[in-house]
Amino acid sequence: MSDTDPVIVVGSGAGGASVAYTLVNAGRPVLMLEKGGVLPRDGTTLDVKRVMKEGQFKNKEPWVNGQNQVFIPGEYYNLGGKTKWYGAALLRYAPHEFLADEEHQCLAWPFGYRELVPYYEEAERLLDVNHFDNEPELQALIDRIVRADPHWKPDPLPLGLKREILNDEQEAKHFDGFASACGYKSDAEWSLLDRIRDTPAFRVETGKTVNGLIHADGDPARITGVRCTDGSSHRGSAVVLAAGAMSSSRILQDHLAATGLETSLACAPLVGANFKMHLNSALIGFSPFSNQDVLRKTAIIFNEQYPHSTVQCLGWIDGDILGSELPAAVPKFVTRAMGARAYGFFVTTEDGSSPDNRIVSGGGASYPLMDYDLQRIKPAAREHRRLVRAFTVRLLAAGLVGVDKYMGMAGTAHALGTMVTGDDPAASVVDACGRVHGMTGLYVGDGSVLPRSSRVNPALSIYAWGLRLGRHLATAGR
Ligand SMILES: Cc1cc2nc3c(=O)[nH]c(=O)nc-3n(C[C@H](O)[C@H](O)[C@H](O)COP(=O)(O)OP(=O)(O)OC[C@H]3O[C@@H](n4cnc5c(N)ncnc54)[C@H](O)[C@@H]3O)c2cc1C
Repeated sequence: MSDTDPVIVVGSGAGGASVAYTLVNAGRPVLMLEKGGVLPRDGTTLDVKRVMKEGQFKNKEPWVNGQNQVFIPGEYYNLGGKTKWYGAALLRYAPHEFLADEEHQCLAWPFGYRELVPYYEEAERLLDVNHFDNEPELQALIDRIVRADPHWKPDPLPLGLKREILNDEQEAKHFDGFASACGYKSDAEWSLLDRIRDTPAFRVETGKTVNGLIHADGDPARITGVRCTDGSSHRGSAVVLAAGAMSSSRILQDHLAATGLETSLACAPLVGANFKMHLNSALIGFSPFSNQDVLRKTAIIFNEQYPHSTVQCLGWIDGDILGSELPAAVPKFVTRAMGARAYGFFVTTEDGSSPDNRIVSGGGASYPLMDYDLQRIKPAAREHRRLVRAFTVRLLAAGLVGVDKYMGMAGTAHALGTMVTGDDPAASVVDACGRVHGMTGLYVGDGSVLPRSSRVNPALSIYAWGLRLGRHLATAGR
């Protein structure tokens, strides 16, 4: 294989797009294979009925959970991956979140915060990360919360939104959970792929589901390409798995099983293990008065009594959005009245790592398995329950009656950690540069590698990891 063979990047989300962006800018050829299609830019991705009620753009592939019950995880397969739908809260992990925390079952990164700083900076620049002033009602609410209990410490929420969004009410009300039609929200497609799209070194093929790895003759640990479900195969100088934490690990598991490497490769038992997705609850506070704020998602609140958790504001809520979560029997005038008085919060707690919380490929013969049990991460479950209770009490004192809903097993927005990075091949799957331990030519570029989920959203750290991996592949070879 030579430098003229492309690096094959499987998946086009936060991680895959970042790897491709760096490689192409360094003059290296990239072939990106993306399972999904290109989303329309005609405004339909902002339509509450299509997006929320009908789930038109969502994954429909069934999975089973640890109790063998069928469910549909909240995944999205399209160019740009889940970033097209994300809320663009783009936060760095704190320096201490690169260290192990045994009490909370958290693994360490193989390097410290400083190593990622230049890539965080680059990602923040590429993604137009901004801070916005709190609107009047949110500011008044936060003031009431903090006055009553100064343990609650609000900070501006870094957002990948262009300032122009404030002039477009439809986009400003529909960025969290919707896909931008004119690029006011920075996602992997608008902010990274569009910048390299016309570069001759870059080729992207959509509608290509990778389902196998090709290896060198007689050496299953040396990867030379990929196979797709449509029968096509593609050779490359290196392969970067960036299909997301629920998919990349299954591609590798199938390869290990088919070649016998699953019994000889030290890291094989950990492929799919340590799955994390945060404990996330939506907490809707209802006030006696109608709300006028539009953007809303401008603040994050910390409280040192809940050190692995944060509370974030959710974006715009109205009767249509609220109604999409309620039974159809609830009359429209009720959902409208409720929506006008609703203010949303997203309560997040870091889930520790358990090797038993894992993704398992069905090998095509059965549904994939997501075995994730809160009993295995009790410290996280305890902190999350305490936090939801405490914030509900605080909201009530500030004049809002709160109703909370745990996002549950289908709430896989923050799926992470199925092929964690580390120095020890018996305790991690990829090394500090992203190469699978014991294999040649195979790298992981998505959220699978994150050893910790941390108390904040993961996308900025995935972008940073992808930019760093791209730099490594461009300079250090394969
Ligand atoms: C509604 C929602 C809100 C969110 N809000 C935030 C937020 O505010 N802040 C934040 O930091 N994070 C947020 N997230 C999470 C964030 O979007 C993800 O953490 C991030 O996109 C993960 O990046 P990734 O590269 O690991 O995977 P993805 O972005 O999921 O990309 C994986 C890509 O691989 C493709 N793929 C899958 N299987 C295959 C295959 N076999 N062959 C080829 N391609 C394949 C997929 O189609 C997809 O394009 C949110 C997510 C959702 C769904």
